[in-house]
Amino acid sequence: MGKTTNLIHSVPVDELTGSISVPIYQTATYVQEAPGVNKGYDYGRSNNPTRHALEKIVAQLEEGTAAFAFATGLAAIDAVLKLLKAGDEIVAVDDLYGGAYRLFTHVYEKFGIKVTYVDTTDAENTIDYITNKTRLVWLESPTNPTLKISDIEKIAAIAHAQGAWVVVDNTFASPIAQQPLKLGADIVVHSGTKYLGGHSDLVAGLVAVRNEELAEKIKFIQNASGGILGPQDCWLLIRGIETITLRVERQCRTAQKVAEFLASHEEVAEVYYPGLPSHKNHAIAARQQNGLFGGIVSFVLRQNTEAAAVQFVTSTTYFKLAESLGGVKSLLCHPAQMTHKSIPREKRLHSGVADSLIRLSCGIEEAEDLIADLKNAFRTVSRKKVWNESTVSLEK
Ligand SMILES: *Cc1c(COP(=O)(O)O)cnc(C)c1O
Repeated sequence: MGKTTNLIHSVPVDELTGSISVPIYQTATYVQEAPGVNKGYDYGRSNNPTRHALEKIVAQLEEGTAAFAFATGLAAIDAVLKLLKAGDEIVAVDDLYGGAYRLFTHVYEKFGIKVTYVDTTDAENTIDYITNKTRLVWLESPTNPTLKISDIEKIAAIAHAQGAWVVVDNTFASPIAQQPLKLGADIVVHSGTKYLGGHSDLVAGLVAVRNEELAEKIKFIQNASGGILGPQDCWLLIRGIETITLRVERQCRTAQKVAEFLASHEEVAEVYYPGLPSHKNHAIAARQQNGLFGGIVSFVLRQNTEAAAVQFVTSTTYFKLAESLGGVKSLLCHPAQMTHKSIPREKRLHSGVADSLIRLSCGIEEAEDLIADLKNAFRTVSRKKVWNESTVSLEK
């Protein structure tokens, strides 16, 4: 069976009525026949049929044993961190998603969890940092926003030899481009806000796991901490997921064209896209991402100033200036002043996020229109440059 057929038919038909759309069970509790005698559902935090349907669909998408839905991507990440106890250590990719970095450093370090940040794009380099104290190896591949790629299979083998679990934040690739559990990861987390939802109309998070042991642990934490996704948003997320194959395949094709256009543009100093043969780990990405390199492209302007980037991101028509990514409508952002604003400049530059780096999230518009939109913005930036140069002497 093909991937999309499998996905579409993992969305259950309602047994009671034949409803082809999963019903929204908007309820807090369930009536019991006698104490403890129920139909498998007892309280809205612990279980809900709409959420249960979503969780089964995502488990199947990631080819895991089970999946669990949370209120946001960060709530999902938070649930995974609760597998740890004081004294445990995490080895994490060095350009971790900013929100995860904030949670690791400002919340969990004070509970005695130590995090070491490592350049995991070099699997050999990663070996030295994973010890028998390491409980979790935390990867993102591709990373945000410079789209670094790590070899999940290789790192999982090293981590397992030390008894650590491997977590992959699969938000950027989506399960269509990459299935980390099949590459040896133990846990996958998602911001469902991005490609899974796909329409920029909800926030959600998911955890998918490899085996029963982890399923039981995460299920316990989900119920004990309570950060679940409500039934309305579960329904909306199912509705989004139904078209994920079509969306992501198109977004990847478009991103490839956009990246090639950018790589040939004289106003561009650098393009980050795993689908370009010039990308450091292009070969690994080609192998572990089913030939789909993702819908996100980042680039640095030749005029490498924040001012030039601001000029660019306020000059596009179809690419809307906003945080987030993965939706049907194209978005762009300027990480230095948006997603990465809280990171000190030196540290930001060190991880490759230049002052003028711009991140594009390609939507499902025609690639030609998106490229025309970018061309226009480049013209605005170069006009501005002429103006800047002619006024330099005045400013001094
Ligand atoms: C957005 C994002 C998150 C956080 O998800 P929220 O739904 O915003 O809480 C985590 N990881 C990555 C890679 C993200 O892009």
